[in-house]
Amino acid sequence: MVVLRTSKELLDMKLSCQISAQALKLAGEMIRPGVSTAHVNKMVHEFIVSQGAKPTFLGYGGFPAACCISVNDEVIHGIPSDRIIRDGDIVSVDVGAAINGYTGDNAATFAAGTVSEEARKIMDVTEQCLYKAIEAAQPGNRLGDVGYAVQAYAESFGFAVVRDYVGHGVGRQLHEEPSVPNYGTPGRGLRLMPGMTLAIEPMINVKGSEVKVLKNGTVLTASGSLSAHFEHTVAITADGPVILTKA
Ligand code: MG
Repeated sequence: MVVLRTSKELLDMKLSCQISAQALKLAGEMIRPGVSTAHVNKMVHEFIVSQGAKPTFLGYGGFPAACCISVNDEVIHGIPSDRIIRDGDIVSVDVGAAINGYTGDNAATFAAGTVSEEARKIMDVTEQCLYKAIEAAQPGNRLGDVGYAVQAYAESFGFAVVRDYVGHGVGRQLHEEPSVPNYGTPGRGLRLMPGMTLAIEPMINVKGSEVKVLKNGTVLTASGSLSAHFEHTVAITADGPVILTKA
């Protein structure tokens, strides 16, 4: 069932989204060559707790950390570790904070030091995909319009949309209905209604949409190419989409 939230409920949900956004911003400021992904996770965890919130991902499906940190060809679900971030890496951080019975969810890919032209391009295009999708998330439009916006833009650069993982409803739970694919046909799929709260999250690979999954759950590009990931929690309102995780 897709939940429609009142404006009061959206207001209640906003705090979790704001803490999620601040946590992501903090992670971005910490991404640099020489830092371990475990250290970034520790700082993010401490920040979330300092705000009186809980790291939503910790323990979710057995996940052992406050945020997913995925480097280079890792698409999502990277586990923070003693891996040292190197100059030229691109680092995707996905994080959510829960408070007042709601959770936010957001992600971004950050550059460590000086990155290649290809790395810069996949990051920029994926971020633009997110904003194209949000622009398409107007009440009365359909999920196919949102997915198409991502797919059309990514593919116009020769990049590939990950299909095995998709965005989702978010609110009381980290993952609610509906699924929000990053591909689709305009005018098809569920109609967007005021009160829906969606985690829109394009995951775009430089080469090939196929992914492989390690035993520990980390998802990588099958081709070994770079991948980027940007995500916002977005409320559909009568006046249009509102980014709840805007920092
Ligand atoms: Mg998500």
